[in-house]
Amino acid sequence: MVVPLVFVSLVVGVTALSDIQTLGRIGVKALGLYLATTAIAVSIALSLAVLVEPGRGFDAGATAASFTGKEAPPFTQVLIDMVPTNPVAAMAEGNMLQIIVFALLFGVAITMSGARGKHVLNLFGDLDAVIMHMVEWIMRLAPYGVFALITRAFASQGLDLLLPLAAYVLTLTAALALQVFVTYPLLLHFLGSLNPLVFLKKMRDPAAFAFSTASSGATIPVTLHTVEKKLGVKNGIAAFTVPMGATINMDGTAMMQGVATVFIANVYGIELGLTQYLLVVLTATLASVGTAAVPGVGLVTLTMVLGQVGLPVEGIALIIGVDRLLDMMRTACNVTGDCAVSCIVANSEGGLDRAVFDDPESGSVEDATRRPTTS
Ligand code: ASP
Repeated sequence: MVVPLVFVSLVVGVTALSDIQTLGRIGVKALGLYLATTAIAVSIALSLAVLVEPGRGFDAGATAASFTGKEAPPFTQVLIDMVPTNPVAAMAEGNMLQIIVFALLFGVAITMSGARGKHVLNLFGDLDAVIMHMVEWIMRLAPYGVFALITRAFASQGLDLLLPLAAYVLTLTAALALQVFVTYPLLLHFLGSLNPLVFLKKMRDPAAFAFSTASSGATIPVTLHTVEKKLGVKNGIAAFTVPMGATINMDGTAMMQGVATVFIANVYGIELGLTQYLLVVLTATLASVGTAAVPGVGLVTLTMVLGQVGLPVEGIALIIGVDRLLDMMRTACNVTGDCAVSCIVANSEGGLDRAVFDDPESGSVEDATRRPTTS
C-alpha cells in the first residue's frame, strides 16, 4: 500500500496547500525539526553510553559472526539520486525520495494547469478516499499481524543472545525510552502547546506496527492514518511530512549508532575524544538520513559512523546478533518522532485540528464505521 498511498495523498496534499511558498516553508520546518530531533537523540544516546560505559571488559572473542561494510554514497550523489530519471521505475522499486519529488512536481503542475488540472485533481481526491479505505482494512487486520510477527521474533531470538550484551541493550533501551517519553513530550509541549499524554496514547498503533515490522517504510500507511485521523493533522501537511519523516528521520537509528560506537570503542579499548563525539553526532545524524526505512539498514550505515571516527567496522559483528530486537524498538522510536514533528509543524501552520487531537476516540476503527470517509 505504501507506494500508491504516498503518491496519491502527496499529490492531493500539495494541491491543497495554497501556494508553493507554504509548501517550501513546511518543507524547511519539517527538515529542520527532523535533523534537530536526530541530533538531540544522538547526543542523549552518547551521554548515556559514556556514563554507563557498555563494552568495558567484554570478551570480543566470544562472538563468531563476521561483518563486511558497504561504502556509503557521497552526499552529492544522494541529492542527485532524489530526482527520478524514470518515475515509473521509482514506484516499482519503492524509492521513496524519488516518489516524493515526482509527486510534489506533479501536484504543483496540477495546480498550475487550471481547469484541466481540476479534473485530474478530482480523480486523485477520489482515489485518495478509496486507498484510505484499504488502509482501514489494514488497521483492522494489524493486531493479528502484529501478534504473529512479535511471537515469531521472540521465539527465534532467545535470551541467551541478549545476556552477554545486556549493558549495550539496556543502555540503548534507556536512551530510546528517554527520547520517546521525555524529548518528544517536551517538544510537543513547548513548541506546540500540545498534550503529550494524549499524543503518546494515540501512538499505540503505529508504534506496535513499527515494532513488529521493524520498518518505518512499511508502517507509513498506519502512521499517516494516525497522524491525519487521530492527531488531526491536515492531509496537505501529513501527506508531506510523514513519508519524508519515514525516509529521513530516524532518531532511534541514530541513537543505536551512538551507543554502538561507544560500545565498540570500549570493546577495542580505543579512547574517543570530544571532537570524535561531535563527529559521531554529525555523521550519525546524516547516516540516519541515508538509512533506508527497512529492517536492519541502520547497522549498514553504522559503518559510515565507525569509519569517520576510525573504529574497526568488524566491530558491528559483535552486535549483529541482538540487532533484530533493537531494530524493532528503534523503529518504534523513529515513527513516534515522525508523528511528533508532523504535529508540531502542522500546529505552527494552523493545520492541526485540536478537537480531533484531543478526542480520545477520533480515528478509531469504530469511529471510522460511525463516520465513513465520504470525501
Ligand atoms: N528499521 C529501521 C526503520 O525502518 C531502520 C534501521 O534502523 O535499520 O526505521
